[in-house]
Order: sequence, then C-alpha cells, then structure tokens
Amino acid sequence: MIDKNKIGIIVDEDFTTKNVPPYPYPTFLSYETPLRIKAVLNYLEKTDVFKNERIIKIEPITVEEDIIYLAHTKYLVNSIKSLSGRGAGLLGDEVFITEDTFDLAKKAVGASITSINNVINNEVNQSFALIRPPGHHALREKSSGLCIFNNVANSIIFLREELQYTKKIAIIDIDAHFGDGLVQYFYDDPSVLYFSIHEYDFVEGEIGFIDEIGTGEGLGKSINFPIPLNSTDNDFLETIEILEPVLREFKPEFIIIAAGFDMYYADPIGNCLLTSFSYYKFTEKLLKIAEDICEGKMVFILEGGYSLIGLPVCIHSVIKALLKERYERPLFECVDFSADAKKSEIYKIKSALKNLLVTYWDSIV
Ligand SMILES: [Zn+2]
Repeated sequence: MIDKNKIGIIVDEDFTTKNVPPYPYPTFLSYETPLRIKAVLNYLEKTDVFKNERIIKIEPITVEEDIIYLAHTKYLVNSIKSLSGRGAGLLGDEVFITEDTFDLAKKAVGASITSINNVINNEVNQSFALIRPPGHHALREKSSGLCIFNNVANSIIFLREELQYTKKIAIIDIDAHFGDGLVQYFYDDPSVLYFSIHEYDFVEGEIGFIDEIGTGEGLGKSINFPIPLNSTDNDFLETIEILEPVLREFKPEFIIIAAGFDMYYADPIGNCLLTSFSYYKFTEKLLKIAEDICEGKMVFILEGGYSLIGLPVCIHSVIKALLKERYERPLFECVDFSADAKKSEIYKIKSALKNLLVTYWDSIV
C-alpha cells in the first residue's frame, strides 16, 4: 500500500562538499560545483520544506563497482578510478576529475537507485535525488558534458538485470541539453519511453532532432521536442500537448524525470528564459497525469542547473507542486519576458512532431 503522502528527498552531505572544480574563475567546467547542492539544501531548510511532515530525508545506498559495469565499460570505470586515485585529471574538454570524482559519481548512481527503489517499493509516492555529478550525457564508454556515470540509465539497467523488474518506465528529460547519452541506452527498447525537451542548439553531437524516434522495436518510443533558444514559460509548457497523450497511452509503471534546470533564465550555461513557474506548472500537470496512470509515482533525478540562485527556487517550486501547495514566484523573477516569445516556432515544431508520431501513437491526431 502506497503512503500517498510521502515525498522522499535523497540527501547526502558529500554532494555539498566533494568534487570541487579545480578552477579559480568561471569557466564551463567550474559550474558543476558542490555549491549547487549546498544552495538547494540551504533554501529548502530556510523555507521549512524539511519541517513538512510529508517530506522525508533519505540516505542513499552504497553501490559497488560491479553495479557501474552494468552501464559502463570497465575501461571507462577504471579510467575514472585511476585518475581519481592520482588526484586529478581531465577527460576530453568537458569532464574534470578530482580525488573525489570516482566515489562521488558512484554515490550518485547509488542515490539514483535509492530514489527509484523507494518509489517502486511504495515507501514514498515521489522522490527527488539531489545528486551530482549529473549523468545524462554519459555514454557507455565515455564520460561527457560534466557527466561521469549515467545515473538514470544505470539505475534502469540495475532494475532490469539485478531486480528482474520488467515493467514499463517513462523518462522525461527536461534538462536544457539533449540527453545524448541517456537516449542511446534505450533507443531500441519498447519498454522505456524517452521524451526529451531541450534547447534547439544541437551541440550534443548533432543529435536530438525531431525525426530521431527510436529504432527496431523501440520505434516511436523516443520523442524529441526541441525548443528554440530564448523560449519562455508559456513556450515550454506547450510541450505538454504532445507529452500528455503519449504518457497516458504508454501507461508506465512510474515516471523518471531527468530533472535539469538549466533552461532557467539566469542559468550561465542554458539559453532559455524560463522562471521557476515553468517547473511548478509542469510538475503540477505531470502529477495529475501520474495520479491517473501510475498512482502518482514519480522520481526526480537531478541533472543540470547551474545558477546558484535559480536551482534552489526551481527545485523548491517542484516540491511545492508535489505537495499541492500554492507557489508564488520570488519577486526577483518578475522579469518582463514576452509571454509567448517563440510561439509560432513552437507550433511548427509541434505540428511536425505530430506528423511523425501519428503512425506510432493512437492518441496523437
Ligand atoms: Zn544541461
């Protein structure tokens, strides 16, 4: 029996102190910092979120190296471990390694598995894993884009192979960047729906276009909704018009949200103009759908989001929506972005996407 009231937040102090980027001034690599989680936890404390009787803090389980091998090559895992052992290193242009990286990335996978286990075992109804480093760019054989191990993919493969969990799972990836690593694990898998909303910039290996809809038995089960740069709250929320019918038809057992918040207007890496209101409304809508199709079971796993002001308020807005409490945007967010800045472009993308998906989904007309 599900405890309908409980929301688990997976918290570990190590995420607030370890894997400090070794850069004295801002660069792309310096934004993935322990301050991200520290700022979020401070804000949730100050806003009394943890005093709410429906919220429970949960410690992550520890996973051993062999669990990481489920999703990654031994060569990659050993490379990260070896560089961490030496105290520092760089993997390509977008991944820094410190002495903590290997252990913290392993812990992020453990926390991600914990957040899912708690929901599927009915200990909580929703959960939020406040983890770093993020994961959705990591490929089986390559860490990439500030991501070390693919937390979401690793957790799903763990469910499949270690727990013999065969039920359908939906992933909704709302990070500003395309989950070029995550999508590839399940591209031919009809039991996993991958729905990505991302910036239309395609820096991620030139993939993430609308016509990439899966392959083999997975055809139709990968859906990309790219949105233009400078999209606003209203633009972002238009994506629900495709997401909702597909989710209702797919009927997953639970929903994972690869929760990146770098479409926030003040994010130093993303290029959209969202406020925390987007994430509140999106979660509110998704919760309603989840309650109809999968007893409200939702798991949020943190991906990107690099504004130390934006990330806390966005995560707070998500939790407020899960609590079904009213949410008011902080005053500093009352910025004057035109409400429907990219409306006509969004409509074009939506209609092209419908044309592609109509073959695979009865609910798309
Ligand atoms: Zn991102």
